[in-house]
Formats: sequence, C-alpha cells, structure tokens
Amino acid sequence: MLDSVRVRLTLWYTGLLAVFLVLLSLITYFIFWRSTLQRTDVNLAELSEAFLTTVQAEMLDNHGPDAAKLATQEAIVEHRFRDHVFAVIDAKGGLLASSQDLPNEDVPVGLLGSEGFQKLLADSAGTERRFENVKGGRSGYRAFVRKFPLKGQTYTLAILQSLHPQNEMLEEVRATFAWVIPIAIVLASIGGYFLARKSLAPVMAMSNQAGRIGAENLHERLPIQNAKDELGRLAAAFNELLERVDQSFERQRRFMSDASHELRTPAAILRGESEVALSRSERPAEEYRESLAVLHAEAQRLTQIVEDLFTLTRADAGQYPLAPRDIYLDELVADCAHAARSLALAKQITLTCEVPEELPMRADEALLRRMILNLLDNAIKYTPAGGRVTVLGERSGNEYAVSVTDSGPGIPEDLQQKVFERFFRVDKARTRMENDGGGAGLGLSIARWIAEAHHGRLVLARSDLNGSTFTALLPAPVAVPSAAAPLTR
Ligand code: ADP
Repeated sequence: MLDSVRVRLTLWYTGLLAVFLVLLSLITYFIFWRSTLQRTDVNLAELSEAFLTTVQAEMLDNHGPDAAKLATQEAIVEHRFRDHVFAVIDAKGGLLASSQDLPNEDVPVGLLGSEGFQKLLADSAGTERRFENVKGGRSGYRAFVRKFPLKGQTYTLAILQSLHPQNEMLEEVRATFAWVIPIAIVLASIGGYFLARKSLAPVMAMSNQAGRIGAENLHERLPIQNAKDELGRLAAAFNELLERVDQSFERQRRFMSDASHELRTPAAILRGESEVALSRSERPAEEYRESLAVLHAEAQRLTQIVEDLFTLTRADAGQYPLAPRDIYLDELVADCAHAARSLALAKQITLTCEVPEELPMRADEALLRRMILNLLDNAIKYTPAGGRVTVLGERSGNEYAVSVTDSGPGIPEDLQQKVFERFFRVDKARTRMENDGGGAGLGLSIARWIAEAHHGRLVLARSDLNGSTFTALLPAPVAVPSAAAPLTR
C-alpha cells in the first residue's frame, strides 16, 4: 500500500496536518488560559480597590477600638459574592474578618485555615501584593493578597476567587478540540486522498499510454493537457525521448534495409557466376579463370562492405578504440598520395601532393590513413581519365587542413550534404556501371566519423562542374580520447 504515491502523499499530508492542528490547538489553548487568568487577576485587583473604598467609607460610621473590625465586616457583607472569599488579617496574623463565616455553599469549610492559604499568607508577609493559586474546593482558587493601612495599623486583605467557572470553560474548549481535531484530520485525509488521486490521474493515464507504445506504434505520443505545468513538461520530455527513440529506430531500420540491399547484389553475382561456371561439366580453363576473377572481385567487395558496416556499428556504439600516437600528418599525406599513385596512373590521372611544412600531431594513424585514402580513392574514381587530383596538407590557424581536389564532374548542389549519409551515392546506377567494384556509399560516412573522432570535421569545401574539394580539418595539436566518440550523422 505504501508503494502508492497517492497513499504516501495522503499520509504525509494527514500527518503534517495533524501535527499542525495539535500545535495550533495547544497554542490557542495556552493563549486562552493565560488571558482568562489575567482577567481574573485584573478582576481581583479591582475588587480589592472597591473593597478598600467601602472599608474607608464604613470607618466614618464606626468608632472605638473595634472600628476596624466592624468596618471590614460590614464591607465584607456588602461585597459578598458567590465565588469570592474575603479575609482581613491584622498585623499579628489574627483573622479580623472573613466571608467564611457567612453562609455560602460554594465555599468549602476551612478554606482559610487550609495549609495552602496559610502558606500564601506566610509567603506574602514581606510583599505588598501577590497573586497565587490555592488548592481547595472543586477547582482551586486564585488568591490576591495585598497590604492596606487603617488607623495607623497595617492589615492584610486576601480575596480568593473560585477558578471553577474558568476551569469549566477550559474543559469545554479541551473537549471541543478533542473531537474537532480528529474529525478535521479524517475529513482532510479523505479530501487529500481524492485530491492526490485527481492530481495523479494524468500520470496514471500517461503510464498506461506509455505502456501501450511499442516498436510498431512508436510514432504515437502522449497527450499534453497543459504544456506549462509539471505534468505537461514531463509528458513533453517523454515525447521528446520517444521522438529520439523513433528516429534512432528509423535510422536502424533504414541502415538494415540499405545494408541488406547492398549485400544482396554481390551475393547474387556470386551465385549467378558460380552457377554459370558449374552449369557445364567441361569448360576451357580460360573461362574458369574469368569466372574466378569475377567471384574474387565480388568477394572482395562483399568483404569491404561488411568491414565498413562493422566499423560504423562500432563507431555508433562508441566502441571503436582509437590508438593515438605522435605522428607527422605531412608524412602520412605524402604516403597516402604515394599509395594512390598506381590507381591514378591506371586512369591517366595526374596526382600531385603538396605538404609545405611539418605537421606534427597525436592521432590514430591507421584511421587517418583510411580517411585520406578514401578521399583520394573517391577523387580518382569519380574523375574522368586524363583529369587531375591534388592532395594538400597545410596549417590553417589552429587546425591542420588536408584537402583533396579533383577535376571531376562535381556533385549537384542539392546533394552535396547528402554524400556524407550512409549508403548514399549520387547516381547509384551510374556508379555501379562505371565503377565495377565501387563502394556502397559508406566511404564518406566513415571518413567524416574519423575526422570527428579526432575532434575535427570533414567538409565538402567546393564542388562545381570543374571538380570538388573535400577538406578534413583537424585540431593541431590534438588530445585524442582513448575510445572514439559516437558517430554523428
Ligand atoms: P562510395 O563508396 O560509393 O564512393 P562514398 O560515401 O565515398 O561512397 O561517396 C558517396 C557518394 O558521393 C559517391 O557515390 C559519389 O556519388 C559521391 N562522391 C564522393 N566523392 C566524390 C567526388 N570526389 N566527386 C564526385 N562525386 C563524389
């Protein structure tokens, strides 16, 4: 049950509310209790003033040695209230007059003789005024003791007010809190539960909907009721994630279908050629040789495609380990140009290499070699016989630039960015016919990944009817990571 956010929210809410209500009640009760006590004290002080005024007035009518006693007794009779007890004590501690002797069923017999009252008198001997609680009766008494002068003598006046009415009121307040608080908590927790349920209903709907989304309906999205609130933002983030997953799925699907398409052609040629070779039991050796040459070329092409696919898959997963070491890029460029010379010669293409300065750097030599050879291979492949190919390695600001320029037919403007996509060939049919054994459209994707894995980039700097220039820009010098970054497409 505690696994439900709804229940946990409700419990938290109810618990906090309960603590808050109890604290609030305690504070309210305390303030109420204190103000009641203060009111009682003010009342007692006022009563004492009135009493002493009456005593003064009574003194005018009484004379003789017992004048003080008589005056205070008469004042007591006048101020006789149900809940109050008056007592006047002379300087020797003797009880001069008190309302205790008057019939009053609310005042317990012996209150003035009680230990509490006697202690109060003893404690207040040195003080002018004193308030204190005294035990007795049903709820105790609030006592006010003050000194007053009469005919040259000092007397003590004690007024005790029963705390019963106040205590009854406080009891009522306590009883009210005792049933109001639990009811408030129960009602609030029921309300809180429904509120939590209502607030979390969109989350439930989202999770149900998300549960229904699979590979076959990845294009479906979660409904967004209010894009600005937290749930709306959650749904939007989820939809963005779905979008990325969908795109990645789509890319994988395209990759798989393109890959199988590319593999199908050499496989079909292999099968066809071998069937032809086997169709007759006896053939001249020359024909077998020709068939084997075709089979060999297609097998090589198959191997190349499979290797390229493997490289790209590892690059995608960020699992292609780079082997960086200190190299001279100028030497590498010259080496690659040298390696491509025979290819160029075969097509009577003039291949020139320019590396005017030393270009030291830290890089994976094998990968950079693959990148440059790829560019050179393309330049030679797509340049008609008798053309020119130039490879140039130079420093350009903080970067090294390796440019391969050819005098080929160029790439149409609208397709210039597409050449870096996997399996893309400007003219698939033409490429296949003119260049038997040509690539599968993966070479530039791999070359671009190699540049990016070295924190650089590969761009098509220029392409028009006079030819194309592909430029790889690499930071100089560069700190190469130990594993290649995933390929960006
Ligand atoms: P491929 O292995 O088919 O050469 P690439 O990825 O290397 O694949 O190149 C993709 C496509 O870009 C090529 O099929 C070709 O149409 C075009 N291309 C690449 N380099 C050149 C170039 N130097 N001149 C003209 N077209 C080019």
